[in-house]
Amino acid sequence: MSLIEKILPELILLEPGPERQRMLAYAIYGPRTGITAFIMVVSVTGLFVLWDKLVTSIPSTWSLLIILVLFLIGLGMVIWYTRLDIRRRLRTQLAQTGIPICIPCGYNLTGNKSGVCPECGTIIAP
Ligand SMILES: [Zn+2]
Repeated sequence: MSLIEKILPELILLEPGPERQRMLAYAIYGPRTGITAFIMVVSVTGLFVLWDKLVTSIPSTWSLLIILVLFLIGLGMVIWYTRLDIRRRLRTQLAQTGIPICIPCGYNLTGNKSGVCPECGTIIAP
C-alpha cells in the first residue's frame, strides 16, 4: 500500500490509471483545499514575518513553545479537516461510478441488501 493509499484509503477501490488520477484530482481541487492552502500560506508567512517581534515580546521560552505547539495543532486540524473533505469527495465519485460505498463513513457496501449502512446507519438510496 502506497502512502497516498494510506492517507486516502478510498483509492484502493480504484485500479491505478487515468480514471483514478482524474477522480483524485477532482477530489483534491475542491473549494476547501483552496481555503486550507490560503490559511497555511498566510499563517506560516505571518509567523515568519512576526517571528522577531514574537521572540522579543514573549517573556519566556516556555510560552513561545506553547504558542508554537498551538500553531502546529491548529494547522494540523485544518489539514485533517481538508483530508475528510477530500475523502468524502472521492467516495461521492465512487458511488456515482457504481462502486457500493457509504458516502458518510466509507464502509464498503458490496452485497448489502438491507439498504442501511451497518457501520453508521445511513439509509442508502437504491
Ligand atoms: Zn456508513
